[in-house]
Amino acid sequence: MIVGIDLGTTNSLIAYFGEDGAKIIPNRLGKHLTPSVVSVDGDGNVYVGETARERMSLYPDSVAQAFKRSMGTEREYILSGKHYRPEELSSLVLRALKEDAEAYLGEEVTEAVISVPAYFDDKRRKATKRAGELAGLKVERMISEPTAAAVAYGLYDKTRDTRFLVFDLGGGTFDVSVLELYHNILEVRAVAGDNYLGGEDFTEVMAKLFLQKAKLQMQGLTQKEQVRLYRQAEVAKCAISDGPQVKMHFLYREETLEQEITYREYEEACEELLAKIREPVKKSLADAGLKLSDIDEVLLIGGATRLSVVRDFLIRLFRKFPDTRMNPDETVALGAALQAAMKERREEVKEVILTDVCSFTLGTEVVVEYEEGKFEDGRFCPIIERNTVIPASHTERLYTARDNQEQVRVRILQGESRFARNNLFLGELEIQVPKGPKGREAVDVTYTYDINALLEVEVKVVSTGEIQKLIIKGDSNQMTEEEVKRRMEELAYLKIQPRDYEENRLVLARAERMYEEALGERRKKLDRYITAFEAALKKGDHDGIRESREALNEVLEEEDE
Ligand code: AMP
Repeated sequence: MIVGIDLGTTNSLIAYFGEDGAKIIPNRLGKHLTPSVVSVDGDGNVYVGETARERMSLYPDSVAQAFKRSMGTEREYILSGKHYRPEELSSLVLRALKEDAEAYLGEEVTEAVISVPAYFDDKRRKATKRAGELAGLKVERMISEPTAAAVAYGLYDKTRDTRFLVFDLGGGTFDVSVLELYHNILEVRAVAGDNYLGGEDFTEVMAKLFLQKAKLQMQGLTQKEQVRLYRQAEVAKCAISDGPQVKMHFLYREETLEQEITYREYEEACEELLAKIREPVKKSLADAGLKLSDIDEVLLIGGATRLSVVRDFLIRLFRKFPDTRMNPDETVALGAALQAAMKERREEVKEVILTDVCSFTLGTEVVVEYEEGKFEDGRFCPIIERNTVIPASHTERLYTARDNQEQVRVRILQGESRFARNNLFLGELEIQVPKGPKGREAVDVTYTYDINALLEVEVKVVSTGEIQKLIIKGDSNQMTEEEVKRRMEELAYLKIQPRDYEENRLVLARAERMYEEALGERRKKLDRYITAFEAALKKGDHDGIRESREALNEVLEEEDE
């Protein structure tokens, strides 16, 4: 079975295509969203999702979150003294999702279509693919998140040609994509975004607003207090869309502080963030050669589009109401599951032609004559430009730069900088040319880039017709089976917990956190219930465990502010 996975910055989801269409698979706690949070304790025990998030305030050094932001970079996270790469942490999330899907579907899941932000470059996509491999999943196809959303919305079923803008504001990434449907082809026309903007920034605004009103400084708070403040800010942020104001509480030095925050105040405080949102919207439209008024429909995806301040801003900007028929958290995973079904060539799924755009520029290094006889080398010459619809094939003719030059070297680069050295080196080709005065010989360099991130480079000497070719696979960095095995062995000290006991672990993590926060009678009460639950766990009697867990859970619900 091929499944669809939305590996999000804040939350991840897994979906499959069943008899009634695409459906989200609940996780071991029965929930659709699994927080993309991982914790590893000193003994190598792994916690994923909500349980890992609960551990954040007590064991901040053992928890990592938002690691999707660092995908494809050299950054490492240290959890309980051991180092992990972002793709390794992601693989632990994927592994949990895979297990949940297998338990739910009753069959093995071996392959997945994983969604990635349209803005992800090649390195980040490769890292995502490696995460899948480390989790034991084959990842042959990735789908960009806006395309997945458009597929889930069934936009490709429209009868008349339409232009859409997909606005995706997740926890930590922001993507805008302009899509066009014509003659039954759904085409991504342009993408733009910001990898460092998302719902968490809106939480931060709330947290800072609270501190400002309470006349406190962020620097004056301990790490645990900061975690607590953000948790309360998150609650207040989600509630502020429901009314004219919210009351936010914060336990500071054994005293519960309370502040009222109005919608107007919050909206004003968010102005800077809203201005940041406008930029990629403008850029994507400009790249697609369209105006705001050319957009027929706006789709909202990503949890943070539930914020009224964001919706109000978009209504003012586009002068129309966005389409919010679907749950913004689930759209992408459902689209990925539909794409998986298309890959399996399931009859129930209407054949749809998806095109994508190349989200970065591909080019080569050249020498530029900036004045008669004066040369500057190391300059970048774009061949396939960012936001070109793929598959695409472009040719650029390059001339010899020196007299009696005998060979031409074509360096293949990816990036947007004018200078070759700042762009990513993908490979190179060399070809012989007949000697002669500079500028007499020429080579035609053709780049062909397809939807599976396969770049074919052909260099042809115009005078002799000699040809050299190089294929750069998007997955050329793919780990060999042995490498994957070796990395898995290196991570073998990690103890993956059996999924059956997740509920118990979550209750304990939450209880432990609340015990630390509580004082006096509250603390004693919590202690009584925790002790009873632990005793039941030791005894191993199922009914007893369930009963005392429910009792403890009730107290936690009552006491959690
Ligand atoms: P995603 O990465 O798409 O899962 O989005 C997660 C982000 O959405 C987080 O920053 C959440 O705080 C935010 N979010 C989820 N629900 C709401 C809500 N009801 N109101 C405001 N923000 C929300």
